[in-house]
Amino acid sequence: MYDYDLLVVGSANADLVIDVERRPAAGETVLGGDLAVHPGGKGANQAVAAARLGAGTALLARVGDDGHGRLLIDSLRAAGVDTVGVLVGRDPTGVALITVDPSGDNSIVVSPGANSRLLPADVRAATSLFHASRVVSAQLEIPLETVVEVVRNLAPGGRFVLNPSPPRELPAEVLAACDPLIVNEHEARVILGAACVSEDPADWARLLLAKGPRSVVVTLGAEGALVGDASGVTRVPSVAVDAVDTTGAGDAFTAALAWKLGAGAALAEAAAYAARVGAAAVTRRGAQESYPTAAEVDAL
Ligand code: ADP
Repeated sequence: MYDYDLLVVGSANADLVIDVERRPAAGETVLGGDLAVHPGGKGANQAVAAARLGAGTALLARVGDDGHGRLLIDSLRAAGVDTVGVLVGRDPTGVALITVDPSGDNSIVVSPGANSRLLPADVRAATSLFHASRVVSAQLEIPLETVVEVVRNLAPGGRFVLNPSPPRELPAEVLAACDPLIVNEHEARVILGAACVSEDPADWARLLLAKGPRSVVVTLGAEGALVGDASGVTRVPSVAVDAVDTTGAGDAFTAALAWKLGAGAALAEAAAYAARVGAAAVTRRGAQESYPTAAEVDAL
């Protein structure tokens, strides 16, 4: 018996968002609109997205004893996330500086703050959460050694889902635990590195599988996604929507996929549902505020 459908281990950030006509190039200054402050960070985003869909969700994360930390905990609780694993410490809450252009594309700089203090010891201290959760998901806005400790602390038979964002080279031990590894185009290129010899995302999926994960998902924005495992690579269509803001779409996709996999869905079926959740998320502004309920996904 599991207490949680999903345990997310990851970052919690305050997103400081400014709309701009054009995202600045190196050395350039552009004028934007008014500053808006939103709860974000890939870990908190995934947790809120899953809880809003109806998944029993817990988050293991670190925030500071400051206004941004309180904003995050309030938004997690409002969405129904269990915050027993949200640790409050002396380091400032992480911050993401986000610019969004009129097409909905964004550029992001992250100051990790407290996220960089989410350490392997925090994972070991949360063993009971791992054993109480059907699926565990992580991203890379926390130290890599913490993610390594996560895969070492999975309950027997526990499923692990990783979105390696921001992307970096991954140890074989982490890759081997991923079921699936979920990447967008940029993350696929970085993780493949010199092995990325093709422009065909289906080839990326095959090349990523050769690196050891049990399954892979390549998300392709408005084009939907590809899923791959030992049985081959399949395309999952997206839903045509008017994209307003793509911030956090990948986090919503990952959360929905992890939840559906935990409920017993096959990979392609879970990805098709996740693509609908991602599509719904891009039709509204912001990250967490844009995440749909299950009823909204069904109505899409
Ligand atoms: P990330 O946000 O990590 O860059 P993507 O842009 O690939 O990831 O988006 C994740 C998922 O969200 C996609 O696989 C798709 O299902 C959905 N999505 C993103 N952008 C759009 C869009 N413009 N129209 C419809 N669905 C979208």
